[in-house]
Amino acid sequence: MKPIVVFGFDMETDVGSWTPFYEGLVKGTPHILSVLAKHKITATFFFVGDAARHAPRIVRMVDRAGHEVGCHTLYHETLGDELFPIPGLKPVLPEECYHRIEVAADMVRKVLGKKITSFRAPRLWGSTAMVNALEDLGFTADASYPLYFYEKRLVPYHPSRKDWAREGKMKILEIPNFANMTIKSNDEYGRDRDQWPLFRTKGAVALMKHIDDMLEFYERKKLPPVLCFYMHPWEFHEMPQGLIHFGEGAVRPDQFIVKNCGKVAVRELDKLITLLKQRGAEFRSCRELTAIF
Ligand SMILES: [Zn+2]
Repeated sequence: MKPIVVFGFDMETDVGSWTPFYEGLVKGTPHILSVLAKHKITATFFFVGDAARHAPRIVRMVDRAGHEVGCHTLYHETLGDELFPIPGLKPVLPEECYHRIEVAADMVRKVLGKKITSFRAPRLWGSTAMVNALEDLGFTADASYPLYFYEKRLVPYHPSRKDWAREGKMKILEIPNFANMTIKSNDEYGRDRDQWPLFRTKGAVALMKHIDDMLEFYERKKLPPVLCFYMHPWEFHEMPQGLIHFGEGAVRPDQFIVKNCGKVAVRELDKLITLLKQRGAEFRSCRELTAIF
């Protein structure tokens, strides 16, 4: 079976939740679009509502290039279950999920002028309440399931209303994010099996070794290899090394967060797509995937 590859770009502030800046989103996105155009492939861009309001031009640029525009919460807040502790990033209450997603999707829709049907949770922290809210709001795809953490769902599935990490009868398609499940994890949460940010910190060839492991694994299990990846526009624009001041203080992102952002990341994405094509990969947006599963 030919691998199906889903690239999802999470359109948020620089280095995720740690700054209020959209430098990467504004300046990195055109680089991503050029690489995708060069290879004639489509992807999904999940915009934070606030990002769409801040940079409507970028939303339209992505849409005009033929890619899918999805949603990535209102302010990059955590909607799902807390998988590991991060200070200041406690999840919102389950009963808040519906309204927050409703407002966020509306914000992106207003800029785009089209309905939004795909979603991804920040940090891949999803929950049953979140997925129920998505279903009730008419979303048809959610690319949040972290395979490295839950370990069970290897292919896109329709979740259960009672437990989003199990198969059930919901209409929405849940898309697992790639992880190498053939290697032993030395991290208490399994994070070293995840794909991010390997393509940037170690390079496309290093990530491809993990992909090849999993392609073999899928073949052995006779499962369709669907490989979903998450990346961010700020990775494709050089990020400040060291302290980032934001008016009331400063944050110093860990080295792996800002390493090789900019030119190196652009080159490695290009290389990664070339290598995936050599494996016969076909590239799909989340919306396109819902027609297959
Ligand atoms: Zn994010």
